[in-house]
Amino acid sequence: VYILGIETSCDETAASIVKNGNEIISNVVASQIESQKRFGGVVPEIASRHHVEEITLVIEKALDDAGLAPSQLNAVAVTEGPGLVGALLIGINAAKAFAFANALPIIGVHHIAGHIYANQLVQPMEFPLLALIVSGGHTEMVIMREHGSFELIGETRDDAAGEAYDKVARVLGLPYPGGPHVDKLALASESAVEFPRAWLEADSYDFSFSGLKSSVINYKHNLEQRGGILDAEAVAAGFQQSVVEVLTVKAVRAAKEYDVKQVIAAGGVSANRGLRNSLESTFAKEHIPFSVPPIALCTDNAAMIAAAGTQMYLSNVRGDLSMNGRPGMQLVSWNQ
Ligand code: ATP
Ligand code: MG
Ligand code: FE
Repeated sequence: VYILGIETSCDETAASIVKNGNEIISNVVASQIESQKRFGGVVPEIASRHHVEEITLVIEKALDDAGLAPSQLNAVAVTEGPGLVGALLIGINAAKAFAFANALPIIGVHHIAGHIYANQLVQPMEFPLLALIVSGGHTEMVIMREHGSFELIGETRDDAAGEAYDKVARVLGLPYPGGPHVDKLALASESAVEFPRAWLEADSYDFSFSGLKSSVINYKHNLEQRGGILDAEAVAAGFQQSVVEVLTVKAVRAAKEYDVKQVIAAGGVSANRGLRNSLESTFAKEHIPFSVPPIALCTDNAAMIAAAGTQMYLSNVRGDLSMNGRPGMQLVSWNQ
């Protein structure tokens, strides 16, 4: 089964062809980071305009790199939501046109299902599994008992982990997107400023990162008022330790309570080396199999959309040409 995946939910214009849901045949990502950097974040109008310019080229390159003709594909899978509505629509309209012109079925994929299924490109999923999703807009834990079945057990009550990374990066004067820069500083540091951990109620699987973000801002403010010099590395290290510890401890507790066969991490923040190291070593100690995609497949890409789309295709899920962008789309099971 060959599926063409298309992703345009935020600031990456991406297309990919995946074979049998687990083998990348081609994977093209056009990032807008360089042009969005100037604004310190993603400007929706600019994102849409970039997608319009890139989408046809990116799809053509994915087909070219794969050496496949459209007639050899089984379906087109496209991110239906959540995301920026104008950005989503560029990918969806391109997918519709491509599907119509080549008489292919079209499948609407939830962006976070895509992040989760990036793990299928590395190794097969084993159920029940716990997915720890940490991205720019989401921080949540999901139990999967089979393909296409998602049970949300906890989520952030305020900021997503990636959002907190990007805000702290801005406070430290680092360029957008800040996550990788904070990661680098944190790893280089020999000391760490102590910041609080938001554990919430003892039995809660929810997260909260806005208090941590405020602590970092207050720390900087107080230091500057006293005329002190900010050690950005130590702040980055302390912030990262707090995020990583909470994510790791809650993931381990959930993995044990739900007695899962596997834990997977997904989303842009799972590219974080501090988090990867912590999860890898902790789950190894607990003898619970753990997997995380290679860094390039943690951030937005279309191979993950094609991988999730393949599972949906095999479960006979089909969309149609009335598909619309769904900015607030919820992650619902396609297999009950
Ligand atoms: P969502 O997937 O929730 O819709 P998104 O698609 O914008 O949001 P992703 O592309 O999955 O988010 O991830 C981007 C986020 O990941 C950004 O906040 C970025 O700073 C963060 N990120 C990327 N690399 C790292 C890293 N090495 N350490 C920490 N954060 C990182
Ligand atoms: Mg992005
Ligand atoms: Fe994403």
